[in-house]
Amino acid sequence: MSRKVSLIRGDGIGPEIVDATVSVIEALGVNLEWEEVRAGSGAYKDLGTPLPEETLLSIARNQCVLKGPLETPIGTGFRSINVAIRKHFDMYANVRPAKISPAMTTRFSDTKVDMVIVRENTEGAYAGIEHVIPPNRAAAETIILITRWACERIVRYAFEYARREGRSKVTLVHKANILKESNGLLLEVGQTIAREYDDIQFEDMIVDNCCMQMVVRPEQFDVIVTENLFGDILSDLAAGLIGGLGLTPGANIGEGAAMFEAVHGTAPDIAGKGIANPTALMRSAGMMLGHLGYVSEGKLLEKAITKALASPSTRTGDLGGTANTKTYTQALISAI
Ligand code: NAD
Repeated sequence: MSRKVSLIRGDGIGPEIVDATVSVIEALGVNLEWEEVRAGSGAYKDLGTPLPEETLLSIARNQCVLKGPLETPIGTGFRSINVAIRKHFDMYANVRPAKISPAMTTRFSDTKVDMVIVRENTEGAYAGIEHVIPPNRAAAETIILITRWACERIVRYAFEYARREGRSKVTLVHKANILKESNGLLLEVGQTIAREYDDIQFEDMIVDNCCMQMVVRPEQFDVIVTENLFGDILSDLAAGLIGGLGLTPGANIGEGAAMFEAVHGTAPDIAGKGIANPTALMRSAGMMLGHLGYVSEGKLLEKAITKALASPSTRTGDLGGTANTKTYTQALISAI
């Protein structure tokens, strides 16, 4: 029997990279049945809503969604649909691995970069508690909400993830020296929970120092756990270490549903040109395969990606190659 998965093709380069990813999963022989639903700017234009009820119902039924990037209007307009889906299904753990590929030379190729950022996905500055103060937007206020409960479950998730994946260290990243209450709470909870995991090394690091350390000595990081805003920024930094946003996958995990999506956005500057790099979404699909129990197929996919990335003639332009989305995908499928 096939496993049903909700599929959102998304905005910008979304449809191009989603189609490429679906064809690769089919080539792997995984028996998935895609239930395509809409979200984002495209859905808003066509259906009058950026997040139709049917989309939420589909994800609730299937408990798993593969999603292309969605456009969020800046400053005004509807709120981020990515954030809305994560919040609706309480997908509290955003897991973003960044591992340097042996297939390619990047600025950091001489260094062992193999880290996973576990980002708290529901609170912090992204909780959406903000308002303007009149007259004429004289000021604006965004509240950083951090609860003990959410700190406990994200820190525990990071330690359990480290154990399950055979990783040896968890670094909790915070700004508790300045944000003494909210980040102080996260640090206190982290230190308490760390005592339950004596097989995993624990350390904490202030976020600004962490940015510098990630560039100067990235090999020291294994699993990083942090709050929402810092996790968002650090994961783009990590993407830069391994060769760019086109390579970095992400998973949003909750008790009732999981969403798999690339870290990058809709890349409006290259949308519709057929040149987008689908690797980040393919790797997100690889994480999804592991989540659904297709572990060997997920590993096979990563091996094929490594082979296709190895030659400039089969790599996409963002990685200095000459291939486009289609020719890269064909090379990858031949490598399976
Ligand atoms: P972006 O990630 O879309 O693009 C940043 C740069 O990286 C661009 O130069 C782009 O061409 C390049 N890039 C990104 N992905 C690429 C790929 N797969 N292949 C080749 N090049 C790639 O970031 P942005 O421009 O800040 O955001 C554009 C839109 O995407 C915004 O509306 C933003 O809200 C949205 N966004 C959505 C998500 C999501 O759906 N999870 C995440 C981030 C941004």
